[in-house]
Amino acid sequence: MSYSSTVKALIAVSVLFAATCVMGALAIQHTAQTITPTPQNNPSFEDIEDKPLDLPEEDPVYVPRFDLEALGFSITEYLKPTLGHGDKPAQYQSYIMIHDTESAGFAREVIAYWARSGAGVASHFVIDKDGEILQCLPMDVIAHHAGYGDAGNNLKFNTPETSRDDKIGATPIGDRFPDYGMNAYSIGIELCHQANQPYTQAQLQSLDLLICYIDSHYGFESVIIDHKMWRASNSDTSAAFAPYLANYIDHRTHD
Ligand SMILES: [Zn+2]
Repeated sequence: MSYSSTVKALIAVSVLFAATCVMGALAIQHTAQTITPTPQNNPSFEDIEDKPLDLPEEDPVYVPRFDLEALGFSITEYLKPTLGHGDKPAQYQSYIMIHDTESAGFAREVIAYWARSGAGVASHFVIDKDGEILQCLPMDVIAHHAGYGDAGNNLKFNTPETSRDDKIGATPIGDRFPDYGMNAYSIGIELCHQANQPYTQAQLQSLDLLICYIDSHYGFESVIIDHKMWRASNSDTSAAFAPYLANYIDHRTHD
């Protein structure tokens, strides 16, 4: 075989090989376009079905700490709709914030004062010294109980402002306290308490049950904080509450 005929033969083989590759590629492409995998023509389906599904774990079911009905738990409704500031759907609920009223008033007087003051401030629940629990706003309504927090707290507490809070009655109070998200993610509870008075057992036991009631309502345990944790310069809750607060944060009861 001459050199030129060898080259011609090599070229012919190369062209044939290239043509075969193109046709093969077209055939593969054609196959991919027209055949839909089914359990019949794709045995790997059976393998997939046999594998355990990789589903996320279900949320743990909330189990109440107390049998509220058996304990005669009750809430007195003293509703003041004008104190509400927008919707707080359950998916936003994250915190239970505990406060002191820091006044000598009974719960009913405290709520009546909020309603007539025009400031728009309120907590959802107020607990009297005798343990009676009054409620002035539904839990799915925003109450202005936390107010402005320390700078950066919207980020720290993951309480971004989403414009659900109408903010009516809220006046910005400076660079140190610019963050206003907490109201829209929390339930506020006030304890009737002033200065260095002791907290009564009836009051603390009602708070234990109220927290259980709120947890049961949502089906999960909200994070418990006090007002000072949101704004460090706040005076509530008082120093006398500190050991109880530590217990609430740790295991959701005062003792
Ligand atoms: Zn407070």
